[in-house]
Amino acid sequence: MNLILMGLPGAGKGTQAEKINEQYNIPHISTGDMFRLAIKEGTELGKKAKAYMDQGELVPDEVTIGIVKERLSKDDCKDGFLLDGFPRTIAQAEALQSLLSEMNESIDFCLHVDVPEEKLVERLTGRRVCPECGATYHVMYNPPEKDGVCDRDGSELIQREDDQADTVRNRLDVNIKQTKPLLEFYQEKGYLVTVDGDQEIDQVFQDIQAKIEK
Ligand SMILES: [Zn+2]
Repeated sequence: MNLILMGLPGAGKGTQAEKINEQYNIPHISTGDMFRLAIKEGTELGKKAKAYMDQGELVPDEVTIGIVKERLSKDDCKDGFLLDGFPRTIAQAEALQSLLSEMNESIDFCLHVDVPEEKLVERLTGRRVCPECGATYHVMYNPPEKDGVCDRDGSELIQREDDQADTVRNRLDVNIKQTKPLLEFYQEKGYLVTVDGDQEIDQVFQDIQAKIEK
C-alpha cells in the first residue's frame, strides 16, 4: 500500500502516521528523516543535499527526487510506504508519478487529514510550555492542574512566539497555499481520500482504515 499523507500543521498527521505504520507495517517516511538517512549513509545524493543545506539553500528537486528514489528502493518499502512532507510541489508530484511508474508502482491513496483552519488555530495557539522543565500543556486538551502553572515545578507557563495567533495564521496560510494545488492534483488522479480530522484520534484512524480498506 503506497500512501501519501497530507494535512496542515496541527491536524494530527504525525499521530495518524504512527498508527498507520503500526497497523499496516509500512514505513513512515518523512522528508526530514529521508535527508538525514541519506546524509548519514553518505550516498552521493546525501552529500549533495548536505552541501545545499549547509549553505542554507533549498535542496533542488532533482536531488530530492533522487533521495526519494533511494529511500523507496529499500527493503522495508516492499509492502508499501507512507510519505509525509513529500511531495511539496506539483513538479515533485509529477516526478514522483514517473519515478513510481519506473518502479512499476503507483500511489494507492493520498490521505488528507482535514481540519478547519479555525480549529487548527485553536489547537496551535493553546500550547503552553514550561520554561524550566520543558513540559508542554494545552489550555483545552491538556491543561495543567492550576491555570498557567507547571504541574511539575510550579513555574509560570509561557506561550512560544511560534504559537502566537498571528504567527500561527501566517504559517497556516502559507501551508494552505502550498497544499491546495497538490490536493487538486491527487483529486484529479482519483487518489484523494479526505478524512475528517476534527474528531477523536481513534475515530480519525478508524475512518482512515475504513477508507483505505474499502
Ligand atoms: Zn516545569
